[in-house]
Amino acid sequence: MVEAPYPELDDLLRAVGDAGRHVADIEASEGAAGNISVCLRWPVEPRTRFPVIERLELPQVVPDLAGACLLVTGSGRRLREIVDDPAANLACLVVEEGGRTARMHTSHHRRFERVTSEFNSHLAVHGDQIHATGTNFHAVIHAQPIYLTYLSHVPRYRDVTFLNTHLLRWQPETIVNLPEGIGVVPFLVPGSADLMTATIESLRRHRIVLWSKHGVMARSDLSIKRAADRVEYAETAAKYEYLDLCAREGGERLTVEEMRSICETFQVRQEFF
Ligand SMILES: [Zn+2]
Repeated sequence: MVEAPYPELDDLLRAVGDAGRHVADIEASEGAAGNISVCLRWPVEPRTRFPVIERLELPQVVPDLAGACLLVTGSGRRLREIVDDPAANLACLVVEEGGRTARMHTSHHRRFERVTSEFNSHLAVHGDQIHATGTNFHAVIHAQPIYLTYLSHVPRYRDVTFLNTHLLRWQPETIVNLPEGIGVVPFLVPGSADLMTATIESLRRHRIVLWSKHGVMARSDLSIKRAADRVEYAETAAKYEYLDLCAREGGERLTVEEMRSICETFQVRQEFF
């Protein structure tokens, strides 16, 4: 939930750009990989930045999002380049009554035909979270961080308990920032309804989910930056894990007792240790 005074459209466009650059800086977005969307439920006037208007049928019905405004990356756009010209790389969708259609606002110099091919998962996660919590702000980032994605190719890391009891123990901050740990879904075809359904379900319990053999999706109801940070915290943990595998698993990790005392001190409610 974001408290008033609410950020202006230009601030949000810049924030999406900054998050895109951040995700690219940590090598989680090669080429045109990855996508970002933000859902806001306070009044926004998109026409100054996005004067071109067309009607769009939404990939699923989202009655809870009627009146909401979504900033979404265009298909094929590079996350690292959004910041150079956010209006050319993003679409602004205003969901119409009933949640079946949206008015899509874009710039005269937009550099894409359609919104991201993962838009169905973005929209479904926004709808599900807003339905559950009533938040007025929700950000979702899909990224392809190398170390997390690599670990998902090793079968034992696709077990959510195994993944978390290994990755969360390299730095004290990891469990503080990811108290629900990292969710996991099996490999599912990008853009598919199955991936969308599994993602909604996992993001009900976690703030970030690993899409096996593909990447991650992270969410935040506070800021886009926080969603990007979640990708970085999880990826850093995966990097330690990878280093340890390369070093023939010589690292001690934080012990279960150490993890418990961290959680006690910082009042972290968690279920892994
Ligand atoms: Zn992807």
